[in-house]
Amino acid sequence: MITASSHTRQHEPNAPTARWQTEMAEAITTPEALVAALGLDQKLIAPARAAAASFRLRVPRSYIARMRHGDPTDPLLRQILPVEGELQDAAEYVSDPLGEHAAIRAPGLLQKYRGRALIITTSACAVHCRYCFRREFPYSEQTGDAPRWSAALAELAADNSLEEVILSGGDPLSLTDSRLRSLTDALSEIPHIRRLRVHTRQPVVLPSRVDAGLVGWLRSLRLPIVFVLHANHPNEIDSSVRRACETLRASGVTLLNQSVLLRGVNDDVEVLAELSRRLFDVGTLPYYLHVLDRVRGAAHFAVSDLEARALVGELASRLSGYLVPRLVREIYGAPAKVTLPPQFPAAN
Ligand SMILES: *Cc1c(COP(=O)(O)O)cnc(C)c1O
Ligand code: SF4
Repeated sequence: MITASSHTRQHEPNAPTARWQTEMAEAITTPEALVAALGLDQKLIAPARAAAASFRLRVPRSYIARMRHGDPTDPLLRQILPVEGELQDAAEYVSDPLGEHAAIRAPGLLQKYRGRALIITTSACAVHCRYCFRREFPYSEQTGDAPRWSAALAELAADNSLEEVILSGGDPLSLTDSRLRSLTDALSEIPHIRRLRVHTRQPVVLPSRVDAGLVGWLRSLRLPIVFVLHANHPNEIDSSVRRACETLRASGVTLLNQSVLLRGVNDDVEVLAELSRRLFDVGTLPYYLHVLDRVRGAAHFAVSDLEARALVGELASRLSGYLVPRLVREIYGAPAKVTLPPQFPAAN
């Protein structure tokens, strides 16, 4: 499970605290504070407390500022508010829906697909997304400290079939700039690694993370780098996210986005179309639209495959091809993420 406070361990003894670290430390972590901040009904508190017991509530104030005041159906709120539905067991919703345990090559290193491997760099996230497929991942066994990275680095160095390394988590940008730099410096020493990729939600949920320190790290890189961001709804992309994306692009980062198709958040063709347009406006191309992974506690977000395919068929019939994300599912043991074909609207 994600530990809410682990980012505090990453402060270097003498480094000044960056604004993003303060914002992360001041994130809202109780249902009471969330309900008060948004002027919501007190009745939401008891179920939220019960559901948060197994996966804590966590949300930065700058993300709350993008929500509608007093609206319990707000699409950003729905992504982070613990609800009663999480406590109901649903058939086929399990703790490790993607079979990730079987993909562990070394502590903190996962490989499912040829040519690329993924480092679980940290357990910490700026936000806790209720649908997260790693909400029950045993991070304490798999992450974090330097000795564990050294096992992953040794494994990467020994396998020259690997040409891309993905930094994942948790959110890798929860690490300090100097921790990131020591990891990527070590990766640059491995001659067969040609590309780096970062899977991160922070430029969206905590755009202050993209600061001068992060730019300094990006400038130090000797390898090309791709960021795969994670936004699910157009309301997530405000002017501060735009600035963060512009800074990343100006620092040479290629920007892609992945979303999860979520009931009550973005299961609507106009919402998905506007998400693609706004992503492009901030220099980011839609990459994947994931159908929900069947993790325990997330069944209330499910959209059926048929409905998902019809939504993407409708989206494809409205937008330029490069604005249409690929609808994908992870299937245990498959050699790549599996594309679900669009279902086009009936011709009239
Ligand atoms: C999703 C994933 C990747 C990346 O797959 P792409 O199709 O290249 O984006 C790599 N490794 C693991 C373990 C993954 O889950
Ligand atoms: S930011 Fe990513 S890893 Fe963290 S809780 Fe959200 S979906 Fe999961």
